[in-house]
Amino acid sequence: MLPNLSIELFPPKDQAGEDKMWSAVNHLQNFDLSSISVTYGAGGSVRDRTIKIAKELRLFINVPVTAHLTCVNSTKDQLSEIVDQYEQVGIENILALRGDPVGGPKSTWSKTEGGFDHADQLISFLAARKKFTIGAAAFPDGHPASNGNFEKDLEVLLTKEQKGATYVVTQFFFNIDNFYRLVNSLKSRGSKLKVIAGVLPITNFKQLTRMAELGGTELPKFVLERIDPTTPTEEVEKVGVEIATTLCDSLISTGVDGLHFYTMNMSFATEKIITNLGYLKNNS
Ligand SMILES: Cc1cc2nc3c(=O)[nH]c(=O)nc-3n(C[C@H](O)[C@H](O)[C@H](O)COP(=O)(O)OP(=O)(O)OC[C@H]3O[C@@H](n4cnc5c(N)ncnc54)[C@H](O)[C@@H]3O)c2cc1C
Repeated sequence: MLPNLSIELFPPKDQAGEDKMWSAVNHLQNFDLSSISVTYGAGGSVRDRTIKIAKELRLFINVPVTAHLTCVNSTKDQLSEIVDQYEQVGIENILALRGDPVGGPKSTWSKTEGGFDHADQLISFLAARKKFTIGAAAFPDGHPASNGNFEKDLEVLLTKEQKGATYVVTQFFFNIDNFYRLVNSLKSRGSKLKVIAGVLPITNFKQLTRMAELGGTELPKFVLERIDPTTPTEEVEKVGVEIATTLCDSLISTGVDGLHFYTMNMSFATEKIITNLGYLKNNS
């Protein structure tokens, strides 16, 4: 049986971006999606856009919505207000994150006065409401601020589970052994967390390298041997689909809990990959 499929969107900046995002949603919602998630930005206007898009998806699309939420620039009261809004429109899933420091993932984190220091505290806060299914972030190649301390990342995830998270979604990765190391280490420590594999369909080399640097993803030789800054767009997209299809095929063969696609608000690559994997549209 094919694993659950979910997709991730980000809140667009303008109307043209919204049109593009809704077009992607319209294409992909025909597959049997277990969830559509919406990322959350730190600043006020981005935050409002996340709330708006999450609400609209909840109202107009017949797929469960997962709203991301971070601790950045927010007091507990402000977080409470946002969570109230999610609850009012029937959003039942929240991906609870700390968020990145304003200067980027490797810069020093400082807590907002009256807010939370780490995602595990946000998880406790959400769990106390007893209304949400709560997920957390995981990093097969290591959290960018953990300096390769895999044991620490593992401890953090186990704490998040104790506090109420029931699943994790991973940063995108290409080194499948690192993903299995994470899954197996959690299992061997008695964790029941579901581990949903985050998959980035590569469509743009520059975007790939920037995202990999920010998220701590290793770019292995087998990726860098096939694409570089001079590779024509069509070839990048073709290689991206091939790489993701191969990765997902391996994950499926070993019984991965779910596949989560970082769509970048586009449907064409994700649609090709999931079709290659054997997912069918509801109406086909
Ligand atoms: C699937 C996914 C979705 C994401 N979505 C968003 C999004 O929508 N918006 C956004 O801004 N960012 C998002 N991010 C990025 C994420 O917010 C950053 O990677 C952030 O730096 C870490 O978030 P976290 O939830 O893992 O934080 P934490 O779990 O708080 O970890 C942050 C750092 O603190 C350490 N740490 C954690 N808990 C403790 C503790 N109790 N004591 C001491 N140290 C601790 C960890 O080892 C790590 O180095 C996403 C990442 C992923 C993988």
